[in-house]
Amino acid sequence: MTEYGMLINGKWTTTRKSSPVLSPATEETIATVPIADDRTINAALEAAKKAQRDWGRRTGVERGNVLRKWADLVDQNRDRLARLLSQEEGKPLSEAHGELDLGNSWFRYYAEFDRRIEGEILAADKPNEQLWIFRQPVGVVVGIIPWNYPMGVAVRKIAPALIAGNAIVLKPHEDTPLSALELGKLANEAGVPPGVVNIITGPGETVGAALVRSPIPGLITFTGSVETGKAIARSAADNVTLVSLELGGKAPFIVMDDCNLEEAVKTAVFSRFMNCGQVCICNERTYVHKRVAKEFTERFVAEVQKLKVGNPLQAGTQIGPKVNRQELEKVEGYVQRAVKAGAKVATGGQRKTGRGFSKGYWYEPTVLTDVRQDMEIMQKEIFGPVVPIMEFSDFEQGLSYANDSRYGLAAYLFSNDVHRIMRAIRDLEFGELYINRGPGESVHGFHSGWKQSGTNGDDGRHGLEHYLRKKTVYLRYQG
Ligand code: NAD
Repeated sequence: MTEYGMLINGKWTTTRKSSPVLSPATEETIATVPIADDRTINAALEAAKKAQRDWGRRTGVERGNVLRKWADLVDQNRDRLARLLSQEEGKPLSEAHGELDLGNSWFRYYAEFDRRIEGEILAADKPNEQLWIFRQPVGVVVGIIPWNYPMGVAVRKIAPALIAGNAIVLKPHEDTPLSALELGKLANEAGVPPGVVNIITGPGETVGAALVRSPIPGLITFTGSVETGKAIARSAADNVTLVSLELGGKAPFIVMDDCNLEEAVKTAVFSRFMNCGQVCICNERTYVHKRVAKEFTERFVAEVQKLKVGNPLQAGTQIGPKVNRQELEKVEGYVQRAVKAGAKVATGGQRKTGRGFSKGYWYEPTVLTDVRQDMEIMQKEIFGPVVPIMEFSDFEQGLSYANDSRYGLAAYLFSNDVHRIMRAIRDLEFGELYINRGPGESVHGFHSGWKQSGTNGDDGRHGLEHYLRKKTVYLRYQG
């Protein structure tokens, strides 16, 4: 069992209190991490503030080279890091490898902005005047991240922060802090100066809240639940600190009668059950046109029953455990209440038991039918291996069910009718649409939620925008 420290000003630091990190598959303690206190929280913020000045004055190419080197080091440690990620989060090893590779592509993608952060030259209104708009770093970035992609989302925040010339204080989720800390161990060798990247650990309600309350950060970039996002936005308002919020989702998966049904079934299953259903863009509610609903549901249930649940480190496993007991109980509660309200369990519907499942947070892949749009299970984010299927009678009704949500992150449509596709693009109130394909963003897209799913966003050139602030300069010259 490893006792981790926190990365503050290039040094590994501990405090008097620590907390265990459990394997969700076995409930064994795999490591301990410190709980940051006021002294260490302030030290991390002050170190970032001090280090940022020099870092921000380096050339973009120098900063880009550090990100490239860091990515190479992650590649060299790929198998070790993937194993650790799988152990702390519970995702199958193959998915952990995928997450590492995706994370690394953010390092390499944002490194490409080394010569691409540009200002503007404007025509002046007065003679002998020059007018420019410069783009400069916001200074200190606070990154607060969830447990479902602890490695990928860490890089998603660090890479744009650093290429823009900022320093960062990152706080991973208390259940999955190890991936970020391991990333931090490679920072020094990558050439990250002390203080430019700080990683501190501890509960959100205390450590996260203290980071958000501080007047030091110029940007709080957060990925997590809607409720925490709202609390962060309220608290950041006291210092008028900019926030970027990537929050929860309740993605509809609309299946039309004109689509390739086999493809739709396979994609809908994958879109729900990857990472044990714990993805913000997961298929959270499947809507199927009444003409194909029966066939779709039968095929869907048959596919779900084939899914292999088990030890995430074992080859061939498709579904691991939920991340913690609280999450398991939450999902269990959703299913029980849905059944009480009239839903039928087509498969699953309970905790997974039997050999290999006596310890850990296991839930059976579950399909619910006979649901109604006003049920809790259709309105609240499940974030687990459970999916309700509901039929609709025409395309307009499908779209209207999809939009009937406080969330607006991702939506899926399977249809081969170009007119329907275009109408869906026009009318769906979501920041990310997947049409005739499964989930997964590209690093150069823009991942942003509408409605209560967030504000601002990550990835691509739009995701870099809020790591920079603008400065307008009016210069008068003689002659
Ligand atoms: P969470 O909101 O419980 O926690 C996220 C982070 O916030 C953790 O590091 C936590 O310690 C911290 N935190 C908690 N309370 C805080 C407070 N008062 N002040 C500051 N920080 C605080 O979310 P979670 O359970 O870790 O993650 C699951 C949620 O994240 C789901 O809703 C999911 O949809 C969402 N998510 C969204 C995206 C996206 O890109 N939109 C990606 C992944 C996950």
